[in-house]
Amino acid sequence: MQKSNYIIEVQNVSKHFGDKIALDNINLNVKKGEFVTILGPSGCGKTTLLRLIAGFQTTSEGQIKISGNEITQTPPHLRPVNTVFQKYALFPHLNVFDNIAFGLKLKKTPEPVIEKKVKSALKMVGMTDYEYRDVDSLSGGQQQRVAIARAIVNEPEVLLLDEPLAALDLKMRKDMQMELKEMHQKLGITFVYVTHDQEEALTLSDTIVVMSEGRIQQIGTPMDIYNEPINSFVADFIGESNILNGTMVKDEKVAFAGHEFDCVDKGFGENVPVDVVIRPEDIYIFDPQDAAQLNGVVTSCIFKGVHFEMLVQTDQGYELMVQDYHSFEAGRRVGLLVKPFDIHVMKKERTCNTFEGEMIDANHVEFLGEKFECLPQDGIESGDKVNVEVDFKNVILQDNEEDGVLSGDVNFILYKGNHYHLTVGTDYGEDIYVDTNDVWDNGDCVGITISPEHIRINKL
Ligand code: ATP
Repeated sequence: MQKSNYIIEVQNVSKHFGDKIALDNINLNVKKGEFVTILGPSGCGKTTLLRLIAGFQTTSEGQIKISGNEITQTPPHLRPVNTVFQKYALFPHLNVFDNIAFGLKLKKTPEPVIEKKVKSALKMVGMTDYEYRDVDSLSGGQQQRVAIARAIVNEPEVLLLDEPLAALDLKMRKDMQMELKEMHQKLGITFVYVTHDQEEALTLSDTIVVMSEGRIQQIGTPMDIYNEPINSFVADFIGESNILNGTMVKDEKVAFAGHEFDCVDKGFGENVPVDVVIRPEDIYIFDPQDAAQLNGVVTSCIFKGVHFEMLVQTDQGYELMVQDYHSFEAGRRVGLLVKPFDIHVMKKERTCNTFEGEMIDANHVEFLGEKFECLPQDGIESGDKVNVEVDFKNVILQDNEEDGVLSGDVNFILYKGNHYHLTVGTDYGEDIYVDTNDVWDNGDCVGITISPEHIRINKL
């Protein structure tokens, strides 16, 4: 049998909890010795993926291999992995030494070997001299070090870490991040790390796996993910971004925010709608002058420790975030400039909502599990299967769920400089996308309505 180059192979893995799809066809290969971070917002499925690798849960579909061996049905204690959880889960009645030695004692390891291994693990986590301390007398950071020592003492091939630093304060978290990185280098084993903190992911990882709603969005090095986000979700989630609707006019020319810019992108075609991403640190800000591509007024200026973060309302009605070492106070008129290389153009995932539906009668069409009123349709008969299109701006959201033809929950909000682009998960299970100037929050329950004249119908 040919030996695999990867220590972990996750192949076509899905996980369902009843109707809920927590993971949807995940494919991920991890190289031996790699530090891989699974990053995404709460509920995206990170922990579920880690638990499947650890063996605490079983896959609904697909398989997982470790060192080339299929382990999907192997119980956790027989897998060559150890897990460190967010809550340290130490035994309060045992001291530091006995907590770390626990697994080795279960395996009936000889005493002198236990002694040697525990001491070496304590050294690795910087806790020499703490072995006889009561775990309750330790700080959060020290307890987490003991939890890590307890995991590495078993010499696993893979260390799985589920938000291990989430309970620590910022200073301790930063210190521990550096220590974890050093530990990873010294141990030479594979780390799979789960976090929702993008800065932590950028600091620690060789490879970042960005997830959203049970799916992998992008896999890449921290630099790739930061500099070349594959879509607006990744751009929004990693670092601060200005994300705007644009039009690729032709090769190396893109229009957005009411201006045509030179860029380096090619091959999109002509007059194609695109998403444009510009990092706030890539926008030059200065007193108004001819070189400016955009002009506007600063509406807020906050000192962020090293740089100033400013919001600029442009004369064309777009709000842009700008970071600079110099402050331009609120109320000041400014000019802005972006260099071609700093404009990131991304293909739009979609330009309008499209659904499969069925004609009920001349004035009604069913889609998303509901009956919507539409304008009379020539040449389309009752019972015909149809394709329904609705522009993002024509979806109306209502505070009261009962007021809508159907209802849903706001589950992703993207600010696009002059409006919000929302993803609303409908109760039917499919998402609907909405452009609005109204301010909604993640998790808001909404009614959804579409006027008959805004429903475009084409026979399939
Ligand atoms: P967080 O950062 O909040 O822990 P996560 O990205 O780790 O989030 P998961 O814990 O993997 O997310 O959960 C993914 C989805 O699956 C969520 O919608 C969650 O509610 C659901 N889920 C997880 N475990 C179960 C379970 N045992 N039963 C039902 N649903 C579950």
